[in-house]
Order: sequence, then structure tokens, then C-alpha cells
Amino acid sequence: MILSSGEWKYLWKLKVPPKIRVFLWSAIHNSLPSLDNLMKRGILNEALCPNCHTANETLMHLLFYCPHVEPIWFGSALGLDPRQLGVVNFVEWWRYINNFAKQIHLCFMVEQCAIICWHVWKARNEKYYEHADISPHQVLTRISLMIKEYSPPTAKDLLVPPPKPRAPDKPQQSSWPRPPQDFIKINVDAAYVPDSGSAALAMIARNSNGQICFGNSWLCVALSPLMAEALAMLRAIKSAINRGLHAVIFESDNQALISYIQQHEKLLPWEVKPVIMNIRQACSCHPDFLFNYVPREENRVADWVAKSSLKGKCPWYWAHRPPNLLSFLLLVDSMNN
Ligand SMILES: [Zn+2]
Repeated sequence: MILSSGEWKYLWKLKVPPKIRVFLWSAIHNSLPSLDNLMKRGILNEALCPNCHTANETLMHLLFYCPHVEPIWFGSALGLDPRQLGVVNFVEWWRYINNFAKQIHLCFMVEQCAIICWHVWKARNEKYYEHADISPHQVLTRISLMIKEYSPPTAKDLLVPPPKPRAPDKPQQSSWPRPPQDFIKINVDAAYVPDSGSAALAMIARNSNGQICFGNSWLCVALSPLMAEALAMLRAIKSAINRGLHAVIFESDNQALISYIQQHEKLLPWEVKPVIMNIRQACSCHPDFLFNYVPREENRVADWVAKSSLKGKCPWYWAHRPPNLLSFLLLVDSMNN
């Protein structure tokens, strides 16, 4: 079976017209009549893409890689450049989008991707079989109309609660709240591999408009996940001080770290003691450095950067030119306020 039964079940429940679900089924089975598939079946002698003449028209080419569809993906609400994802077949792409959407609790993204694929395919067929020349702008208009009708992302979609139940005393909000004016908010996170002790640390500073002020990620070795998180926090504090910032909210999804920083009477675990002492010392003359514990949903940008950096999948220049998925997360965060 190409997809697991759970993955099929999810596909058949998507909020899209039934014809799109059938289209996805065919795309996943690579049974759509792309020129490449027709050539493989002996129906055509060649399969060169009639739009760009640079490659055979496989399903992946016509949906994602042909320069003619680039403005459609980039111009859509998702602002994606699918070529950046580097996937080789539709199943791989489908899984990637599904996993990413689940990871960030934004399932409407899957529906929007399905709708875009179907309209790209439809416009391609109209061009071949009816000689209609549909511009990317027309395709985008059709896409946005269908999204409005079937799968509009609402504020509710953007605030889907995380799968794990939370303790009743924890805050229920799951969007990233912007800092008050005159404050900078720095989200920090770390991803850790217990076997090797290697860790990727990330921090991202944003202003009250949700814009990136600065950000960084780096690799290091730590003795525990807590130590990795503490090192990320220390680096964030030093960056803020070096930049002459006075009013900063530091956020982490590690509750223990925040309580060790705030509660001076707490006994510190030995491996983080020097780092926490360093943090307290650095903050001693900065009364407007505030520390917040936040659930992971509110910290998802830092979480994504740390995890992707650990896997070597996040470019080092991300703060200046955020990759697609990061731009998308930033956009979602800025929409939430
Ligand atoms: Zn092409």
C-alpha cells in the first residue's frame, strides 16, 4: 500500500470537492495522463514539456517544477516554492506537506495544497485539450474562490489546540502573542540528541509588528536538554545586551528553565548551575528583561528553526531570507494578533 490506512482516511476526509480527492488518489498512484506517463505506455513518442521545453512532463514537473507554475505556487496564500522542498515524487511531497501541517497544527494547509494542485492540473488540461490559455493570475483567482468556498482558514483554524491535553491551570492560548510596543520578544528553543549530546539552539527576536529583528541558530554539545535550552537562553540574553536592548521578553517552552531563572531559592541541577547563574548575573541590571514559559505552539518558530538546524535543513541565513516553511510560520504568527 502506498499510503497507510490512516493517511488514506485523512485524505478522504479533506474539506475539498470529491473530484479533488479522486485527483489526489490518481496522483498518489501516478496514474494521471501526464505526457511522460503516456510515453511510458507507448501512446506518445516523446514527452517534452510543451510549456518550457526543458524537461519531460512528469507529474512532478507539471505540478511543481515547471517554471510556468512557479508564479501560481508563489502567488498563492501559502507563498510556497515547491522546488525548494527537494522531493522526488508526489507521495513524498504529500507526506511532507501532511507532516508539516500536523506539526504546526494547521491542517487547512493540506487542503489548500490539494486545491492548488488540482487547479494547476485543470488549467494544464484546458490548455492541451481546449487550447485555452489560462494565465497564472486566472488560476490563482480560481484557487482563492475555491478555498473561500471549501476551506477558508479561520481564526479558529489558526488556534487549533495541540493534541496533548494541558493541565487546567496552564494558559489555553496557542498563538504567538506579539510583544507590547517598545518591547522585543525573543523566543528560544533547543533540539537535542541524547545519544551524542549534540544540540541545535535557536533564538528569534521579533518586534510588536511580528517582524524579525534578528535571529540565530548554532550547534553545540550539551549534557542534557535542559542545559541546551539554558545555553540558548544565555546566548539570547547576551545578544540582547550587546544590541543595547532594555525591554525584552524572553520566551521558552521549557517550564523548568524559566522557573530556575525566576526562582532564586530553587536548588539548581548541577549540569545547568553555571549557565543559570550566568543568566541571573547577566539579567541583574536589566529589570525589564522578562521571562515567560509558553506552550510549544507559541514557540513554534524557534522550535522549527532548532529542529531543522539539527537536521541540517535550515540555512544559516534564515533570519535574513527565511526559507518557505519558516516564512509561512512567521506569517501565521503575525496573523494571530
Ligand atoms: Zn515545463
